[in-house]
Amino acid sequence: MDMKIDCPVCGVKNGAISKMDTTNIPYFGEVIETSITCPHCGFKHSDVMSVEKNDPAKHTLTINKDNLNSRVVRSQTSTVSIPEAGIKVEPGPKSQGYVSNVEGVIERFISATHRAHALYNEDEESLNNIKTTREFLESILDGKNEATLIIEDPYGQSKIVDLKAESVPLTEEELKTLKTGFTILDQEDLEKEKQKVKDEEDKEE
Ligand SMILES: [Zn+2]
Repeated sequence: MDMKIDCPVCGVKNGAISKMDTTNIPYFGEVIETSITCPHCGFKHSDVMSVEKNDPAKHTLTINKDNLNSRVVRSQTSTVSIPEAGIKVEPGPKSQGYVSNVEGVIERFISATHRAHALYNEDEESLNNIKTTREFLESILDGKNEATLIIEDPYGQSKIVDLKAESVPLTEEELKTLKTGFTILDQEDLEKEKQKVKDEEDKEE
């Protein structure tokens, strides 16, 4: 379903496109994919939500050339890491939710290293680190290396769909230290604030 909306960033009237799709992920269930793109300012945001309620969990898979096709559901509320590559992506306003596969996740990180390269073009040490990360990621795609893909989701909205993937409940400690998708929490707070104002107004009448 496509809809024209006002861009939340540049404010152009009916200039941004909002999309919503439902996909069925085997062994996980229905997920709703949403995205907003604005051709005027380049704003892009996507997220994925599970229809069913799942428990907070940590999903781990040793990734190599044999499971590049395994499906990955990454909600915006989850933390994704590949420790061997020094990669950790936490929830935040710029993090995206998506349905992809192992190869797609690695390719996302490879493009991130290209963007990072442009940012650190003066800093020799950072550039070397970025290059090492990129070469390591490429070596997984080439079948020369393997690594660990970890997705931790305090809302249970994420999953690595592979028979060899391990899913364990998040511990209290992990739940405390994990960042959450605070853009969503902000949204809830906003609704609460609006409700408060409305209640006050009702009282005055
Ligand atoms: Zn815009």
